[in-house]
Amino acid sequence: MQQQQQDTISALQAMDAAHHLHPFTDSADLAKRGTRVIERAEGVYIWDAKGNKLLDAMAGLWCVNVGYGRKSIADAAYAQLQTLPFYNNFFQCTHEPAIRLASKIASLAPGHMNRVFFTGSGSEANDTNLRMVRRYWDLKGMPSKKTIISRKNAYHGSTVAGASLGGMGFMHQQGDLPIPGIVHIDQPYWFGEGRDMSPEAFGIKTAQALEAKILELGEDKVAAFIAEPFQGAGGVIIPPDSYWNEIKRILEKYNILFILDEVISGFGRTGNWFAAQTLGLKPDLITIAKGMTSGYIPMGGVIVSDRVADVLISDGGEFAHGFTYSGHPVAAAVALENIRILEEERLVDKVRTDTGPYLQDRLQTLSAHPLVGEVRGMGMVGAIELVADKHSMVRFGSEISAGMLCREACIESGLVMRAVGDTMIISPPLCITRDEIDELIFKASQALSLTLEKIAARGN
Ligand code: PMP
Repeated sequence: MQQQQQDTISALQAMDAAHHLHPFTDSADLAKRGTRVIERAEGVYIWDAKGNKLLDAMAGLWCVNVGYGRKSIADAAYAQLQTLPFYNNFFQCTHEPAIRLASKIASLAPGHMNRVFFTGSGSEANDTNLRMVRRYWDLKGMPSKKTIISRKNAYHGSTVAGASLGGMGFMHQQGDLPIPGIVHIDQPYWFGEGRDMSPEAFGIKTAQALEAKILELGEDKVAAFIAEPFQGAGGVIIPPDSYWNEIKRILEKYNILFILDEVISGFGRTGNWFAAQTLGLKPDLITIAKGMTSGYIPMGGVIVSDRVADVLISDGGEFAHGFTYSGHPVAAAVALENIRILEEERLVDKVRTDTGPYLQDRLQTLSAHPLVGEVRGMGMVGAIELVADKHSMVRFGSEISAGMLCREACIESGLVMRAVGDTMIISPPLCITRDEIDELIFKASQALSLTLEKIAARGN
């Protein structure tokens, strides 16, 4: 690298440290270690400013479903910016991109869901859910039904309501969260918390925590249950097979709304447009964002069932909620082109029938590695649990930071994987090919061996 180029990068890093507060970051530590400046991307690869090429097995932040570098998305945004860069959907107005997008999403969603409320992000969408379910019960003449039940280690966003709905203890510690009216039950994390019983029994037990909580609070106090189909940021935690049937039984028995947070799983990641279809679930509200635009521009929303929409519309009057950018025309145009690409290239079908099963097969080969305690996944997500002892499945002490070491080893091997504690997770673009999956697995395997070396070196 030329000196001039190195100087530019150093100057950018210094400016970044001086002025840019990063999300979910220890700024003092970051300033010491320096940031990686990401410069461009194409397909499933990203390049940093130093010219290092990395296979992005996280699709950015679980969002770049169609992969990077889609010129037709840039063209759609450019065209929309020229005709109507902004108009709102308040005060009796609407515009074609928002109309077409709402109608398109309704056609892809489960049959009982026909309306979309647009937001700017997943967090705003979950804020919308909170307000919408409370409004729903007020209109139904049951104003005491206000509490929302969520799960520990869930992630539902970073706004006050989003972080409260989420079950991340370290987030709750900052800012006196959760807000009142939100409670959390145990999560269905078999590898982490349930290995003293079979996955089936553990699935039933953790689902029944919902029933116990409803009975403790009183059915007349509970508005809704919110859950991710698999906990993404929590570590790609996939409930045992027995879990959802029991949850469905409980939700049907008590008069409680079901919010399925599909911010990660929506738009194809599990091999159907929505995980509700993959898992046979019937949510009342679905949270969407990320893959909706493949992250090319911010957008989120709530897909609303007829059950909820009918009450809001026929009995509700004004729903006093909305954002300047609800249904932003440029974001909607980008989302429409993104969905067109997913359809034209049959990417969702491929995840279900071809690349998804192939990824899961190849991922399982990593379970032979001495560092690996469990490999799990579905569709285009996966998790690798790192353990200190493969036979007893004892995990590393936190002082080892095995996950962080592995994340560094991945970068050194040309791969982006994320670490949640000692769980390594992946969520690649849906357009990833079989050859690229082979490359991902090869690099992951290399990184695991490098991690083992790093851990051994620490021990000496
Ligand atoms: N819900 C889930 C399941 C998520 O994974 C996320 C983001 N990682 C959100 C909500 C929040 O979305 P956003 O960051 O767009 O606010």
